[in-house]
Amino acid sequence: MTGEKRAVILGAAGFIGSHLVDHFLARGWRVVGVDNLITGSVRNLDHLRQEPRFEFIEADICDPIDVAGSVDAVLDFASPASPVDYLEHPFQTLHVGSIGVENALKLAKRTGATFLLSSTSEVYGDPLEHPQRETYWGNVNPIGPRAVYDEAKRFAEAITMAYRRYEGVDTRIARIFNTYGPRMRLHDGRVVPAFVGQALRGEPLTVFGDGSQTRSFCFVSDNVEAVWRLVHSSYRDPINIGNPQEMSILEFATAVQTSIGTSCRVVTKPLPVDDPKVRRPDITRAREILGWEPKVSFPEGLGRTIEWFRSQVHVTMSR
Ligand code: UDP
Repeated sequence: MTGEKRAVILGAAGFIGSHLVDHFLARGWRVVGVDNLITGSVRNLDHLRQEPRFEFIEADICDPIDVAGSVDAVLDFASPASPVDYLEHPFQTLHVGSIGVENALKLAKRTGATFLLSSTSEVYGDPLEHPQRETYWGNVNPIGPRAVYDEAKRFAEAITMAYRRYEGVDTRIARIFNTYGPRMRLHDGRVVPAFVGQALRGEPLTVFGDGSQTRSFCFVSDNVEAVWRLVHSSYRDPINIGNPQEMSILEFATAVQTSIGTSCRVVTKPLPVDDPKVRRPDITRAREILGWEPKVSFPEGLGRTIEWFRSQVHVTMSR
């Protein structure tokens, strides 16, 4: 035993999960990554094949999780997270947010580890408070198509707090807002891969609704730094992790074209049911408790993301 700390990262082959693996390894931890690969990809972990401090287990956390040896932190990032993905995998999404989270909490209880839940801005639904503070209880349609994700995550927060109150588990809850960066899947349906992929291929950008709905995009390296700090804090209540710079989807479409240096047509498509009209985190709590705020500017993050997608899109750009 080396005395190094050891994390179990659930959803390790996913977009944020794989960046967290790198972040923890770079800071001297050993990491066990778990993923069932329904939306994650082992390619996100390829660079760690020779890393002796990293171990990968292909498993579904809806089955009981067994990890031998000591564990200091369990980070649960296992869930489909793009609207297209969770509508394609409704039951897996409901199960991983309920049964899966409870299995993860049981692992934390058994090993005495700190447990961190990746929750979401979707717990605020189509918010009537703007920007969203952690004290807002949300405006979620419990029977709409997005409910498979939103309500699973709300249940996940409830069971996390129950394990803290009644089972003595040391828990954290990160409410993650729209995050972007390298290792997003080109075809995951989210607006960042969708617009960047379309612009790189010279295709029209598909704006849902009139494009006046807003989002606030946080670059992934800022996100994982906040998660790292949250694990090391002792804060029990939810904390918003996101970038408060808000823009409409039409503004985002223009930014993508400017950054790529192309000009594509915009075509409108129907707005998905219950698509939130506005979203922007109030990050006062993260600033005060974690001493954190996003560092990567939107043009810089977008540029790095476009470079990543360029390496994924094997096409000649038509301008
Ligand atoms: N969106 C869009 N075109 C697309 C994909 C998404 O206009 O091709 C819109 C979507 O309706 C939403 C916003 O972009 O208002 C962000 O969507 P995303 O799927 O990235 O995630 P969400 O924030 O809704 O979870």
